[in-house]
Amino acid sequence: MSKHQQLIDKSRKYLWLPFTQMKDYEKDPLIIESGSGVKVKDTEGNEYYDGFSSVWLNVHGHCKRELDEAIRMQLEKIAHSTLLGMTNIPATELAEQLVHITPDGLERVFYSDSGAEAVEIALKMAFQYWCNKGVREKQKFVTMRNGYHGDTIGAVSVGSIDIFHQIYQPLLFDSFKVSYPYVYRHPSSNPEICREECLQELKATLERHHREIAAVILEPMIQGAGGMITMPQGFLSGVESLCREYDVLLIADEVATGFGRTGRMFACDHEGVRPDIMTIAKGITGGYLPVAATITTGQIYDAFYADYRELKTFFHGHSYTGNQLGCAVALSNLELFKKENVIENVRKKSVFIRKELKTLHDLEHVGDIRQLGFMAGIELVEEKETKRPYEWGRRLGYQVTLKMRQLGMLSRPLGDTIVFMPPLSSSEEELKEMIRIMKEAIFQITEDE
Ligand SMILES: *Cc1c(COP(=O)(O)O)cnc(C)c1O
Repeated sequence: MSKHQQLIDKSRKYLWLPFTQMKDYEKDPLIIESGSGVKVKDTEGNEYYDGFSSVWLNVHGHCKRELDEAIRMQLEKIAHSTLLGMTNIPATELAEQLVHITPDGLERVFYSDSGAEAVEIALKMAFQYWCNKGVREKQKFVTMRNGYHGDTIGAVSVGSIDIFHQIYQPLLFDSFKVSYPYVYRHPSSNPEICREECLQELKATLERHHREIAAVILEPMIQGAGGMITMPQGFLSGVESLCREYDVLLIADEVATGFGRTGRMFACDHEGVRPDIMTIAKGITGGYLPVAATITTGQIYDAFYADYRELKTFFHGHSYTGNQLGCAVALSNLELFKKENVIENVRKKSVFIRKELKTLHDLEHVGDIRQLGFMAGIELVEEKETKRPYEWGRRLGYQVTLKMRQLGMLSRPLGDTIVFMPPLSSSEEELKEMIRIMKEAIFQITEDE
């Protein structure tokens, strides 16, 4: 039996993959062996474009020399020591950098290892902030319908994607859910009307309940896992104003949108929004190692700063928090952002992506194309005029991405929305080819059946 076949058998026998129906995996197994630039290679030697940045992480491509080198250099000193009650060099240097690049007002960095953890920390921090200030009533959160903040229990409690979250309902704490401005599915299809309606709904919720609300949490500018849904201009800053008006904290979950993904360093920068707490992860290490952070204001930090006897300490921490290898590669990642002008290039290439994606409108079943920077979703519908979705059990999105895999590109759908989220380093030529494959796959599955 070939080495490849042995590995496939082992993977079928021993693994349980995240967010995966293993019955599907058994039918279409895949084992990645190596990667270079914007492509990855499987154990049979097939190459694929990494059309979703290995689930929204990768920034500069795979096997980027500078990033590899940063890890090797750190490895010669030490791989890991704890951040409980002490620190290390890269974690300290990185904290300074993060405070510099995040929106004004964010001054303190609390590390963790995944986006979901960063969100858990944000929620506990917001909750305890009010407690530490002696405000006992503010214990609840407001979240957007269709929002996604990770898979741990707290993160799911402020999440709102029924297909993932409903089953866990008995385990969750209650939060207020308000409508997200999903323009394509709004009866008016008008961004201003949709925005105003949603802001009114949030205002009404805050008006009635602000005394019991600790914070509003949302994904700024674009909801990721909810289906790559872009906000109308002015919504994010509208939410910020309402938070200030009603004295509730604003938590911006930039786990997906951070680090240049949307054409700004952070999505909040599009509207000059200054959240009280920001969560970051995915792109922070260029897609290399698990590092996440929750960054907050001096005001929130100060509410925890006291004599130990007052019990205002933030009692939270994970074993690998502030890992040196992770922080070293994150520092190198940030250097590359400067050296290679990543943000400016993303903005330029986004215009190219927009133009290329437009050609997908020729297809009969492409309902909506949404894009902000290098984050895009193509929503497939059974009928364009009425926007009627496909029956969900047909799994059209899944079929399309399997077809894309055959044609040499990886992605993962969100229902019937096809995700296009290539590494920020992709050249126009590579982007063009990826979009061609996507178009071909959509055509073959939806029209050529
Ligand atoms: C991916 C994601 C998370 C969860 O991050 P993990 O590292 O997968 O735990 C949280 N929030 C948003 C907006 C995300 O896109």
